[in-house]
Parts: sequence; structure tokens; C-alpha cells
Amino acid sequence: MDVTRELFWNISSDGEFVFYAMSFLAIAVFVYGVFRQIKRIKRGKNFEFSKGFSLSLLIKSARTVSSNRRIYRGHVMTGLMHLMLMSGFIILFIGTCIVLVEYDLFQKILGKEHGFWFGKFFLGFELAMDVFGCLLILGLLIAITRRFVFRPSQLNIEAREFLFPGWLLLIALSGFVIEGLRLAATATELTYNAQWSPGGYLASTLFATIPVEDLELYHRLLWWIHAVIVLIGLGYLPIAPKVVHMLSAGFNVLFKDLRSEGRLTKLDVEGAFEREESLGLERISDLSQKDLLDLQSCTECGQCELGCPAHNAGKSLSPRSIILDLQAQLKVEQPLFGTHKEGKPVVGNAMLTEDLWACTTCKACVEACPIYIDPLSKILEARRSEVMMQDRFPQPFADVFSAVEKRGNPWNEHPTSRMEWAKGLDVRTMVEVQEAGEEVDYLFWVGCSATFDPRNQKIARSLVKIMNACSVSFAVLGEEERCTGDFVRRIGNEYLFQMEAERNVKTLNKYAFKEILAVCPHCMNSLSKEHSEFGGTYKVLHHSELIEMLVKEKRINPQKITERNITFHDPCYLGRHNGIYDAPRQVLKAIGNAVTEMRNSRSKSSCCGAGGGRMWLEEKPAERVNDRRVEEALQTLSCGATSEGRGGVIASSCPFCMTMMEDALGSKETDVVNKDIAELVAEAIGLEDRKGSESGR
Ligand code: SF4
Ligand code: SF4
Repeated sequence: MDVTRELFWNISSDGEFVFYAMSFLAIAVFVYGVFRQIKRIKRGKNFEFSKGFSLSLLIKSARTVSSNRRIYRGHVMTGLMHLMLMSGFIILFIGTCIVLVEYDLFQKILGKEHGFWFGKFFLGFELAMDVFGCLLILGLLIAITRRFVFRPSQLNIEAREFLFPGWLLLIALSGFVIEGLRLAATATELTYNAQWSPGGYLASTLFATIPVEDLELYHRLLWWIHAVIVLIGLGYLPIAPKVVHMLSAGFNVLFKDLRSEGRLTKLDVEGAFEREESLGLERISDLSQKDLLDLQSCTECGQCELGCPAHNAGKSLSPRSIILDLQAQLKVEQPLFGTHKEGKPVVGNAMLTEDLWACTTCKACVEACPIYIDPLSKILEARRSEVMMQDRFPQPFADVFSAVEKRGNPWNEHPTSRMEWAKGLDVRTMVEVQEAGEEVDYLFWVGCSATFDPRNQKIARSLVKIMNACSVSFAVLGEEERCTGDFVRRIGNEYLFQMEAERNVKTLNKYAFKEILAVCPHCMNSLSKEHSEFGGTYKVLHHSELIEMLVKEKRINPQKITERNITFHDPCYLGRHNGIYDAPRQVLKAIGNAVTEMRNSRSKSSCCGAGGGRMWLEEKPAERVNDRRVEEALQTLSCGATSEGRGGVIASSCPFCMTMMEDALGSKETDVVNKDIAELVAEAIGLEDRKGSESGR
């Protein structure tokens, strides 16, 4: 006798017919729901799928989704829970499909007694279904306990959150009870050992004393309840809030924006004005197809909110709320079923004005999202609309726009003073190099902050001393350098940014050099990623990378092994936006410092609060992002080897971070100092006096 079992056992042929009719209806509703979702997404603006579709991209995305690796990062239990849920759900779904093929194709259509569902395959199938069913139940219990018992701050604990896990739990548990009733009722006829279905076998032991007729009755009753719950859920799946992520999250990973991170798309500003088109995100209808897919895919896990420095500092900005509130506005204005309403502005509805300007563009939310949802791009597009279409933005921005436009720098300093930082140093300009008929390896892009801010001038001076000591060939633009427009673009003034970019490219393209060297990660990001669309494609190096190279080539020999109590603050535009985490650490190691890492470091680093134009805005004392970061650094340093008593160093490698840290340190009782890695290296090789360089604050 074959090792297998009867499908649709205990269900009459009329019952079978009713079940198939219900199934077709549920599948039709499911397909229609998916169709409406796709239709709504396709209504969005075209999304430039940057690198084209390829098999390797498909494999990579499938690997990302199936491995759960973006959920695991730092959240092992959550990752395991999700893996149990996902694998349980997928394997049970595949099992259902296998049964359908066996029954409908082989047994019904081809009229065979069996297709492939017997013998060892059957036994393996039964075992796998039960094991993954148990994993699903375990994952669901962990999820429910975590949300409703442990109540982590990033999760909603409203009753509606129980619906989906409750539905799945009901399906999985009733499945095991049905299996147990069947095994108990057919115990004498079974052609295999019931323990191949461990979950069902366990349940069957509870029913051992019940008469067979009763078991059959209970089985039939529960089978129908189970079928109805499954089919109602199937039809509801494509339209259920949050649950729909089961269908869309994989596509969101597949259609991840692959263009280099940290860049913004170029807008045809003048063309849009001429055509009287809107710029940026004013209404829901301005969202791209990828934006709409983002909104549909959010699992409400709150990871983005957990990492948001503005939210953590007590501001109302929450990247999760931005996504969910946009989603809510989308549903009201463009319901899946029914007529569309006239769109309201996004700012003032889905996005609060104060939230729009609270964002530091740090990218922590994008980095944290397990399925690559990008709240930041929505904020930046809304800013573009506010600045260019509505002419609405915080007043301090008007002053810096004017200063950049007229004088090429936000400090409103006269361009002729651009070389004052270099007084007494051997620094040539590109004009001088060109007139001498020479070329240089590096065009040193000083950046406005290191040019005009007295504290940050020290960074540029230290770097020049290092380069001269190591005979690095470089020159600067001097009076010809202008703001790269990084923060101008992130505030939303695309028009002014494009003017700056065109001017800078025109200047840069006059000269011969191999690479651009920048002390400011914002300048680096803008020159390397955003100026290429204006005719300037450059290789841009951050000074931490240059110093690391000089160390590796043994052109830097630290005489003073400093062994200082030191921690490193990863600037967002160096780390998250450009993936440079190791170079500054290697440099610090080379000069004898073991870095004590902050709790939030590398890709999880907390922002200093300066990015996205925040540098120019006043902060309420209780909501200072820089204060929180410095507090974290001070706590870290107090745990480090304190050879310097209350002292220590917060190392950084961005002039904007320097300003924010100095500002926060100034209000604290501490001997801890903030140093750029260039300054620390200059001290270590005897080019700067440590005491003297620490008196800057
Ligand atoms: S970019 Fe940073 S500040 Fe802005 S919403 Fe995301 S996490 Fe918050
Ligand atoms: S945007 Fe991403 S990280 Fe934020 S709640 Fe949604 S799924 Fe989670």
C-alpha cells in the first residue's frame, strides 16, 4: 500500500465544489486587489530605474529578502522572529501549491491514483509542513509578546495590530487541530507513522478517547471554519494596511534606487517654470512610482524612527510618521476603490512644516529601513516645492541664499579674503601652478567652513602642514572657489545650487589635476556625485583617505604615540552617505590611539545636527541634536582609559561636525576637546603644538 493520504478526506464532493467556488472567488478578489494597487502605483510619476534590470539584481534582491539580513542588524531576536514568520508562511504557501498540483493536475485532470505525492516525498512533505507550521506559531507568539508585553517604544500597541498576527495564529493552530482530528479518526487506516506529522500527532493524542463519528464531525466543522478564515484573509491581503507589505516589500527591495547614495536628482528648473509645471513634492500626485511603492510597503516597524536624531532629541519629526501620514493622505485622495478627490498640499497635512525643516538629512532612516524605504527623499522633494514653488522657508535661509548667490559663501565674506586662512603657509593657487606650466596631483577644495570659520581654519592649516611635510603636490582655487551648494540643494533651492555647480565646474575644468581633495564631506559628496550632471566628473578624496594613504606609504611617521582617551564621531556625509568608516579610524590607530567606539557608531552613528541646512537655524535648548551626541561621546570617554583625568578627545573629520560639537562642548563642564584627525596627526608628527591647538575653543 502506498505511503500517502487521501486529500479532501471527510469532505463530500458537493463540499469540494463549494470550496473550489469560494477559492475562485477569493483568488479573483485577491487579483483585483493587486491590480488596483498596481494601477495606483502606476499613476505616480515615472521613476528612473537607474541601472536597469538584470538577473544579478534579481538574485541579489531575493538574497536580501530571504536572508532577513537587514532585519538582523543589531536586532537578532527581531530578525529570528521575522525569519520564522516569513519562512513558515512561504513554506506553507508552497505546500498548498504542491497539494493543488497533485490533486487537481494528477488526480483530477490526468485521472491518476497519485502524481508525486507519496512515499519518501510525501513523508518529507508532511514533516516539513509541520516543522514550518510550528516555526510560524513560535514566530507569531514572539511577535505578539514583544509588541503587547514588552511594548518597545517604536511599535504601535493599538488593538488593530493584533488582527494580522491573530489571523495567522488562528490559521496555523486550527490547521494543527484539523490534522490531529484526522490522524485520530484514521489512526487504524494510516499507511505511515503519524509521528511524521509531529504537530498534528501531538494534537491527535488529545483526541484519542473521542469516538470516530464525533472526530469526523468536529473535523468537518473546523475544516470549513479554517477554509473560510484562509480565503477571507487571501482576498483581503492586497488591501489590508501594513499586511500588504508581504506582497510589495520584495519589489521595494528589487526597485531600490541604485544611484549613488547621497545624491539628489537634477531638476529642469527653468523648463518647469516655462511649462508652468510644479517642482518637488507639493501634492500626492507629485510622488513617483517608487515613492508610492514605498508607501505601500511600510511594515510600521519603526526602525527609521529609532535612528532619527531629530526625533530622539525630542522633535516631533518621525520618518515613520512621514511615510504613514503620506500613505493615509494617499488613501483618502486616491482610494483603491471609488472616486478620487482633489489633492491637498502635502505640507500642512501629511507633513508638518516644523518636521520638514527639522530633518538633518543624515540618512539614518534610509539606512535603518529593512526594505529600503526612503523617507528622506520625500522630505527633500517637499522642501524643493516649499522653496521654489511656495517661496516659504525659515528666514535664516534667505540670508544664506543671498550670501551664496552674491559672494559664493554662506558666511557672506568677500571672495578676496578666501586665502586669509593660509597666511604664513606655503600654499599655491591653481592659477599660479598653471602660469608656471605645472600640474598638481590634488586640487585642495578647502570649502567655505574651513576657509572662513576661525576654528575650522585650523583643520585646513593642519592638513596643509601635513601635505607639505610629506611633499604632496597640491594647490587651491583661492578666490575662485565658491560654495558647492550642498546645503543649498538640501534646503530645496535647486536653482541656486545649479548656478553654483555650473560656476564651479567651469572653474575646475580650466585646470589640470588628478583628484580633488576635500576636508568637508558635504563638499566631497556634492563634487563627486552631483557635479557630474553639470559637466564635471571628478575623483574626490576626503582628507582622511589621503592621510591614511600617506600612513600606508610610510610618508607619515608619528613621533609622539599619543595614547589618548579618544572616540570618533562618524560624520553622516562621510559615513552613511559615502561609506567611509575605516580611513579615519586607521589614521587614529596609526598615531597610537585605540578608539573607544560610541554606542551609535559607523552606519548607526548619530548626527551632529548640522546637515540639510540645520547649521543655520537656531535650536530650542531642549531639542539640541548636538547636545545629545556630545553627551553620548562624553559617556563613552568616561568609560575609556582615562589617562587624562576628565579629559579626552572627540575626533571628527568634518568642519560642520566640528562646529556643532564645539558648540555643545562649550556648554559643558568638561576638559574633553574636539579635534579633527588632521589636527591630531599634525600634533603626532610634531607639526602642531598640542596645547596651542587645544586653546581654540
Ligand atoms: S534623514 Fe535623519 S533627521 Fe531626516 S528624517 Fe531621516 S533620520 Fe531623521
Ligand atoms: S519606513 Fe521602513 S523602517 Fe520605517 S517603519 Fe516603515 S518599514 Fe519600518
